[in-house]
Amino acid sequence: MTQRVDVVVVGGGQAGLAAGYHLRRQGLDFTVLDAALAPGGAWQHMWDSLHLFSPADHSSLPGRFMPVQPGETYPDAGHVVDYLADYEKRYDLPVQHGIRVDAVRRDGDRLLVEADSGTWRARAVVSATGTWSRPFVPAVSGCGVFAGRQLHTVDYRRAADFAGQRVIVVGGGNSGAQIAADLVLAGDVQVTWVTRRPPRFLADDIDGRALFDVATARRRALDTGRSDTGGVASLGDIVAVPPVRVARDAGLLTAKSMFSQLTSDGARWADGSRAGADAVIWCTGFRPALAHLAPLNLRGLRGHIATHGTRALSEPRLHLLGYGDWTGPASATLIGVGRPAREAARDVGGLLA
Ligand code: FAD
Repeated sequence: MTQRVDVVVVGGGQAGLAAGYHLRRQGLDFTVLDAALAPGGAWQHMWDSLHLFSPADHSSLPGRFMPVQPGETYPDAGHVVDYLADYEKRYDLPVQHGIRVDAVRRDGDRLLVEADSGTWRARAVVSATGTWSRPFVPAVSGCGVFAGRQLHTVDYRRAADFAGQRVIVVGGGNSGAQIAADLVLAGDVQVTWVTRRPPRFLADDIDGRALFDVATARRRALDTGRSDTGGVASLGDIVAVPPVRVARDAGLLTAKSMFSQLTSDGARWADGSRAGADAVIWCTGFRPALAHLAPLNLRGLRGHIATHGTRALSEPRLHLLGYGDWTGPASATLIGVGRPAREAARDVGGLLA
């Protein structure tokens, strides 16, 4: 059955909810289709010890502050899930869970949104599918011969799953540092942390608040034609959240350079040195989950879609929200997605008026 609606939002994580909030304010008729069975987006799948890198008051979506989590300066992932579930309910956002969108294609003056359980004819689409469902693992020699387990950030839950094992953690970003810290602090896991370049820790007093300020300053500079300040990446790669700081200061978080190949029982470096391993955890990032947009034929450099703000350059009825700085500075954070969501909703409102 085909249903008609002004706007379909694909994805009901934080970006989809922020879009819904602002579409509602525009008075538009919309629906949010979310593949997940329950609210919370990617936050439902984070590892047990993960905490936000910002306090609650710096982790809020438009309209409603995230409540403080009792006893925690930095809320945990479960608290974020509760907040998003409450947000969805409080604003009575029309989120339909358990519906995966397979394709968005042009159909005259409409966009046809095809899902596993129905089709929607929409005048505009906001894609907010995040990156969690597209973990990235680099092509490394020997991946096929390694006899141990290979996991990605998305598979990691807790250090206890690796008790007594030798684990190589690959990646010099926040996930790599946090998972390596989680494992070394457990005490009974032998960890080799591997990064492509020496780890760059942000100063200890910099958390998500400062990062958001830097991203905002960058946006202002770019908006007013001043030169690019370099944004958050210019400060470092790793936020020194408390466990990372503890592990680093105890001398437990030292990184080796990237190995040249995996072998059947571990890794080998170019200088001939080796490390045995029972598991390799790839903390090597994500790619935007855009497969459903393939029929629109918009893919550009590095798998991104060329945008002006959030609007697809070659398809003005399509907006991309929350995928990273290329869809708005800090748009892949809780506090940062509100502004691009508002701009997307206004743009859609203008288009449909
Ligand atoms: P998601 O949360 O991934 O939600 C996307 C939703 O779309 C999901 O429910 C998914 O099921 C659904 N979906 C996907 N494909 C389809 C489809 N084809 N059809 C229908 N539905 C679909 N940000 C912060 O602000 N503070 C932090 O401290 C912080 N820490 C982070 C730590 C880690 C380890 C990671 C990975 C990210 C962190 N982030 C943090 C970044 C960011 O807030 C999250 O990545 C966030 O989950 C992105 O939200 P989203 O709505 O864009 O995507």
